[in-house]
Amino acid sequence: MLYPDPAAANRALSALWHWPHFTVRELSCRCGGRFCSGEYWHDAEFLDALEGLRARAGRPLVLTSGHRCAGWNAAVGGAPLSRHKQIAADIQIAGHSRHQLLAAAIGAGFTGLGLARSFLHVDRRARPARWYYPGSERLWIQ
Ligand SMILES: [Zn+2]
Repeated sequence: MLYPDPAAANRALSALWHWPHFTVRELSCRCGGRFCSGEYWHDAEFLDALEGLRARAGRPLVLTSGHRCAGWNAAVGGAPLSRHKQIAADIQIAGHSRHQLLAAAIGAGFTGLGLARSFLHVDRRARPARWYYPGSERLWIQ
């Protein structure tokens, strides 16, 4: 479900928020007001999986991207049908073993896995998919 800004999302969701390692704000659009007011897409199952990933990783996850409004998704070169236009997360790899982070994401139930140089993209899609970004493949093949 889409909320127009973090304040609206927090008003609606604070009483039932039970994902202690994540906030509405860090998952909201980061266009900084260029295209939206900080839209947030709420998906409880996504957050459950993210907490599961956090538990398996055993250390904090730094998210570099969450929901993106259409304008921001286009501005950062996202695919037209990117899952970020609903909810997906890019997780910074620094501070983690990339292969352990990938295994944790799979174990937590993520089915869309984008293997980049500096981050791991995760989402939950009906048909599993895994892909590399330009120049990232050699880092993941061992
Ligand atoms: Zn935006």
